[in-house]
Amino acid sequence: MYFPKYRLRRLRRNETLRRLVRETRLAVDDLIYPLFAVPGLSVRHPVPSMPGVFQLSVDELVQEALEAKALGIPAILLFGIPEAKDEVGSGAYARDGIVQRAVQEVKSRVSDLLVITDVCLCEYTSHGHCGVLRGGEVENDATLELLARTALSHARAGADVVAPSDMMDGRVAAIRDTLDENGFSELPIMAYAAKYASGFYGPFRDAAQSTPQFGDRRSHQMDPANSDEALREIRLDIEEGADIVMVKPALAYLDVITRARLEFDLPLAAYSVSGEYAMIKAAAERGWLDEPRIMMEVLTAIKRAGADMIITYYAKDAARALNR
Ligand SMILES: [Zn+2]
Repeated sequence: MYFPKYRLRRLRRNETLRRLVRETRLAVDDLIYPLFAVPGLSVRHPVPSMPGVFQLSVDELVQEALEAKALGIPAILLFGIPEAKDEVGSGAYARDGIVQRAVQEVKSRVSDLLVITDVCLCEYTSHGHCGVLRGGEVENDATLELLARTALSHARAGADVVAPSDMMDGRVAAIRDTLDENGFSELPIMAYAAKYASGFYGPFRDAAQSTPQFGDRRSHQMDPANSDEALREIRLDIEEGADIVMVKPALAYLDVITRARLEFDLPLAAYSVSGEYAMIKAAAERGWLDEPRIMMEVLTAIKRAGADMIITYYAKDAARALNR
């Protein structure tokens, strides 16, 4: 059937019709809100390159978690900036580490909010790399044990889900084994499965103070040019025991999200990273973009590409818009 009998514009004539035929529906249930915990009391330190994002002391972080919960956001994702850093990132797996304290407080003060913890060493190492170094290189196998210890300490603190973001080979299996051996066989792993070495992480490194002191992360994070390899990464993480897999970043990698969606049937997360957020914020500040509209368009696009859940610094704003 062709024009003039067939007219696609018929179903776009008004919002009620458009609502009826809409294919993708973003929901508050899809949102995960990332938060940064720092030592201290009543600390609410703005991250300059991410307007609206703060480094929060645990007491302030609890308030933020309560607010997220009140808006209906199902989960937060915790990062920590420790008091002190060292060569082996001990703060990452310290029983009273910053994330461990934040998890305990949030779990005891906020009910029915999932606490997901980021598992990596780069915020905790003095050199800012994601693992232990040997000869200036991140040593894969020696790092696995520390990552597993970190995940276990988060589990003991009460985390609902652990999310390894380091991109070491074999880390999901190492974490799964350690959790299972220690009575946490029910605890899910959300694996940063296809994580790219991306320039879009720039503002995050301000927030998490995790910029490598030398070199970069291209030896373990993925080359932005590859997507077949992303499927291999995801497949391996699933075989190692991941319960949820993630593509990161989101906006410049929608094709990877779609390929992952078509290839695998696990819940799929996408991380709309700091640079994606900062680009919109900066353009909106100059009056070049309509921020609320772009926010929803981008989040809807990530969902349309195939993501089941979206980690976004816009989680509260998006939840407010969706609740309206
Ligand atoms: Zn890292």
